[in-house]
Amino acid sequence: MTVFARLILPTLDLEAGPLACPICKQVDGLVVSVDVEDRSETPAFMSCDTGHRWADAQMTRGLAVEIFELMKDKYPETLELSVIE
Ligand SMILES: [Zn+2]
Repeated sequence: MTVFARLILPTLDLEAGPLACPICKQVDGLVVSVDVEDRSETPAFMSCDTGHRWADAQMTRGLAVEIFELMKDKYPETLELSVIE
């Protein structure tokens, strides 16, 4: 069983600057796709409101899982879960 989540991110200011869509520069409400069992350093897939999609080197899959775990209890409304068996 694998759990995937679409997580609406808070605005994140990372070492290299705010996490933003590389095309339209949106910073608020970006969505990251999370595979809760994948804590690798592989870039996670991101999307913005306009529908741009990219793999962001600053947002590793491991970091996405960490943020998922912080958000899931406090802010469950930011999550959309799907389970694939
Ligand atoms: Zn965009």
